[in-house]
Amino acid sequence: MPRLVMKFGGTSVANIDRIRRAAKRVGAEVAKGYDVIVIVSAMSGKTNEMVGWVRETSKLYDSAEYDAVVSSGENVTAGLMALTLQEMGVQARSWQGWQVPVLTTGQHERARIEDIPNANLNAAFDAGNKVAVVAGFQGVSPDGRITTLGRGGSDTTAVAFAAAFDAERCDIYTDVDGVYTTDPRVCDKARKLDKIAFEEMLELASLGAKVLQTRSVELAMRYKVKLRVLSSFEEMSDAAGTLVCSEEEIMESNVVAGVAFSKDEAKMTLISVADRPGIAAAIFMPLSEAGVNVDMIVQNISEEGRTDMTFSCPADQVLLAETAMKAAKERGEINFHDVVADEAVAKVSVVGIGMRSAAGVAAKMFKTLADNEINIKIITTSEIKISVLIERKYMELAVQALHDVFGLDKAA
Ligand code: ADP
Ligand code: ASP
Ligand code: MG
Repeated sequence: MPRLVMKFGGTSVANIDRIRRAAKRVGAEVAKGYDVIVIVSAMSGKTNEMVGWVRETSKLYDSAEYDAVVSSGENVTAGLMALTLQEMGVQARSWQGWQVPVLTTGQHERARIEDIPNANLNAAFDAGNKVAVVAGFQGVSPDGRITTLGRGGSDTTAVAFAAAFDAERCDIYTDVDGVYTTDPRVCDKARKLDKIAFEEMLELASLGAKVLQTRSVELAMRYKVKLRVLSSFEEMSDAAGTLVCSEEEIMESNVVAGVAFSKDEAKMTLISVADRPGIAAAIFMPLSEAGVNVDMIVQNISEEGRTDMTFSCPADQVLLAETAMKAAKERGEINFHDVVADEAVAKVSVVGIGMRSAAGVAAKMFKTLADNEINIKIITTSEIKISVLIERKYMELAVQALHDVFGLDKAA
């Protein structure tokens, strides 16, 4: 039987009614002759609620227990989806990560899938099951503990199953009808794309567009998975949604394909560190060992042998970063006057493979921000993206202005 992977995000399984609606779509694919692997998220809001409980219980919490708690939302929806399908007369069974098993690394909270042996699910399909409903976002570590794949990780579960089971397609059902030029919630001129290149989607996702988890795009690109994003609320149609595909499959595209933003950023500054060879290593080694994801970095102008070092990291890692820096100071590895965190910042980025060959994108971006009197705190660039860190209160304005100036509301 040909195989399909269908993933339903939190809003698509938010209550019993919506689970029924999703199950109908699954039933329609089964009727076409597919064996279906359904990947489900937790009901919307549940994972956040559980993360809140963990943080309330323990400030610098043990991440193995975080995983034990927050993985549970998916177990509920997997069981409910299997029951709903059974009620419809479709032979279905639910699977938790460890039962499949989804084998991951031991890095709790951000584990990576290493392997998905297919014997158990294949045996279930061989025995007449039409649907395997798998709890997304979770796996099992080499020492037998439950792991999670990072927020939004069910997307990655879906793509990994599509690769492991050689699925014809991986359909990601969500609350928007595809990938847009920017988040339609922030810019009402955002335009749905019929196709987007893997490289662009990868950048947009890693720069904050949460419609797909970054790792899922990486896996789809590596294993050539046919990946589609579509709405679970709209009428069923085969042409719907956005296809994430290779660059060669796209005829025309704008120089800038999209604008991404992330408000979960913090700017940290180490004030007055000695400006000497090895200082960057002495700062960033302990941060990396502590698991802080440092993103942008600037070393300020040095005066009398001392300088300020500024970097950005996820806002929820501020305490981790501060703790690591103070420990390094105590061990005598670095010396600084103070460490300050600014959490009222956001990162805004423009992305496009057309930037490889077009000049002037950065200048246009900076000019647009200047015209709107938005100050830039840090800049980083790569071949196909430019990112700036700005005050958070200007984030929406910056996104809309950039969307306008690069003409993203119109197709190329
Ligand atoms: P799910 O629960 O289905 O996984 P998510 O909330 O994780 O859904 O992702 C879908 C959301 O991503 C949309 O509701 C939208 O607000 C947001 N989003 C951000 N950037 C984009 C984009 N470029 N295109 C489409 N949606 C985007
Ligand atoms: N429920 C998890 C989260 O909210 C995983 C997912 O929905 O993809 O992050
Ligand atoms: Mg998601």
